[in-house]
Amino acid sequence: MMEDRLQHSITPLLLRWFRANARELPWRKTRDPYAIWVSEIMLQQTQVKTVIPFWERWMSELPDITSLAQAPSEKIHKLWEGLGYYTRVRNMQKAAQVILEKHGGIFPNEFESVLSLPGIGRYTAGAICSIAYNQPTPLLDGNVIRVLTRVYGISENPRDKNTNARLWALAEELVKDASQIECGRRPANRRETFPHCSYLNQSLMELGALICTPRQTKCDECPIQQHCSAFRENRVHALPNLGERVATTDRRFVAFIVEQKGKFFVQQRPEGVVNAHLWEFPNFEITGKLAGAVSHFSKISKKPVCRIKHSITRYRISLEVFRAEIADKEGVPGHWMTRVELEKLAFPSAHRKILRHLDPVAAMLD
Ligand code: SF4
Repeated sequence: MMEDRLQHSITPLLLRWFRANARELPWRKTRDPYAIWVSEIMLQQTQVKTVIPFWERWMSELPDITSLAQAPSEKIHKLWEGLGYYTRVRNMQKAAQVILEKHGGIFPNEFESVLSLPGIGRYTAGAICSIAYNQPTPLLDGNVIRVLTRVYGISENPRDKNTNARLWALAEELVKDASQIECGRRPANRRETFPHCSYLNQSLMELGALICTPRQTKCDECPIQQHCSAFRENRVHALPNLGERVATTDRRFVAFIVEQKGKFFVQQRPEGVVNAHLWEFPNFEITGKLAGAVSHFSKISKKPVCRIKHSITRYRISLEVFRAEIADKEGVPGHWMTRVELEKLAFPSAHRKILRHLDPVAAMLD
């Protein structure tokens, strides 16, 4: 009951704040479900400012369901290059093909149909249905979890099943409350022209991104501060309670730049592995079995050409890159490509960085 009262209090405040403070983002200028879907998938694990140029390039190259469904695999991987988590882009193409076959190329507008598409979970289906169709479908992402646990003073770990269910229920109550404002059943602040379900969900995400941030939280600028349990109880930075952080693991790899007559040796990652279909330079994780795998290569340079460090999920990866030759051409499957051809392929970020070091190598070998 108390939570009910809180929802009625904060919903109009969130809507008003969002209307005045929402960032101008290119995908906010449209209600096209396809465009919103693309933005939502890109925004998973990636910051807004990084996504903007990717989204714009994607929408100009693949502006609709049909163009995505029929695009060559190389093209979608290349357009996604740098965003990582490439299963997302393959699932998007599968979903576009399903929409073409089952829905005549029109993005479905029923929550269950959207949810049944490959790569679309409860969050994304909720985002598409609320933002594109203004339906009262809830969503819950990291930003929304942070806002809700703080406002409602929820100390339990949001990953716990019951707590997670409670957060979904709260998100649903809020967006339903917003839908009632839009329908005029509640008298407060009715501005029927605004899509209130869309704005409510986006306001929670926006508040989490701009004000209710993990650190340096700007409670003084928060539109719902007077209703916030964590603020009142001075527990802002204790919430959300995400439990122990997963320990990071160090992993070391070596990669080889092999060049012959102006062509470079690269391999395409097979189906079913991380970064499937992407291209890379031959590389090996430094483990006990390294010596056997590396025996196909000879004349390995003493000094590395470069060292690349990056992180993926809980792994801190270092990649040392050497020049080498292939000793046993039969034993190593791969392709020889010119520098220009390499530019057209999609590489994981670490291997794309190796490309920058090819030109001096080629010059030295000439
Ligand atoms: S008052 Fe602070 S902690 Fe509470 S919702 Fe606003 S920004 Fe977040």
